[in-house]
Amino acid sequence: MGDYKNTIIITGASRGIGKACAEIFAEEGWQVVIGYHKSEVEAKRLEASLLEKGFSVQAIQADVTKQEEVKQMFSKARATFGKVDALVNNAGISQFRLFTDMTEQEWDQMFDIHCKGAFFCTQCALEDMISSKSGSIVNVSSMWGQVGASCEVHYSASKAALIGLTKALAKELGPSNIRVNCIAPGVIETDMMKSVSGEIKQVLCEETPLMRMGSAQEIAKAILFLSSEKASFITGQVLGVNGGFVIG
Ligand code: NAP
Repeated sequence: MGDYKNTIIITGASRGIGKACAEIFAEEGWQVVIGYHKSEVEAKRLEASLLEKGFSVQAIQADVTKQEEVKQMFSKARATFGKVDALVNNAGISQFRLFTDMTEQEWDQMFDIHCKGAFFCTQCALEDMISSKSGSIVNVSSMWGQVGASCEVHYSASKAALIGLTKALAKELGPSNIRVNCIAPGVIETDMMKSVSGEIKQVLCEETPLMRMGSAQEIAKAILFLSSEKASFITGQVLGVNGGFVIG
């Protein structure tokens, strides 16, 4: 029993916050599935560097909006590591658009990746979790899902939906001893912020009480906490990791 290693599937782990999660969970002794979509080179490089350090990891490709691909990712993960103990629904995209210019396709894509992707992955993860009466799911929302962002209505709405999903699912799965929580990051320095001008980044930092952007590692540490036994009585919560940008 002492040798048992927990297995976690992290979506969007080829880059940014997901990559930082893969590294920190591997270092903490978890068996890690590096979920990726298009960034095969980055995912394989991360897999190779963690394997070289002696960690148990596997990079698996899946578009989270495609149910069949998600199912295959879970069967490959189970074939390698056995039971899935935890899931981080982190895959995401951002886009700046005036609401009046937004197309149906852009709206759908945002909800498909953030909400339908979490729905597909969570259903697959529950196959093990319900029978073993244990498990943890962390959904990566955003502070914009809490307070809304101008020119990001579809992003904010889909991230708010993920908060609703988290709360409802926590109630439904609590009796099965499965915890469901949500992280709401503030402004975090990843590729996602690359399209934001230096000037706007400066303004966002000034609006952040801690006066800076957060790092992917700072989000990963909070996700590790929520996924771990240290958070064994925490479920249905939204943890803001935002340098104080949104309080309360
Ligand atoms: P990032 O560096 O742009 O990485 C996004 C990740 O999502 C990539 O690994 C990408 O995979 C994956 N992804 C995108 N579409 C996918 C799909 N259809 N199927 C599977 N994977 C997909 O972004 P990040 O900043 O780390 O963001 C991670 C999460 O944090 C997102 O949900 C984001 O909304 C949230 N967040 C970020 C910030 C921020 O300031 N950075 C703030 C609040 C919330 P491939 O590259 O392999 O395609």
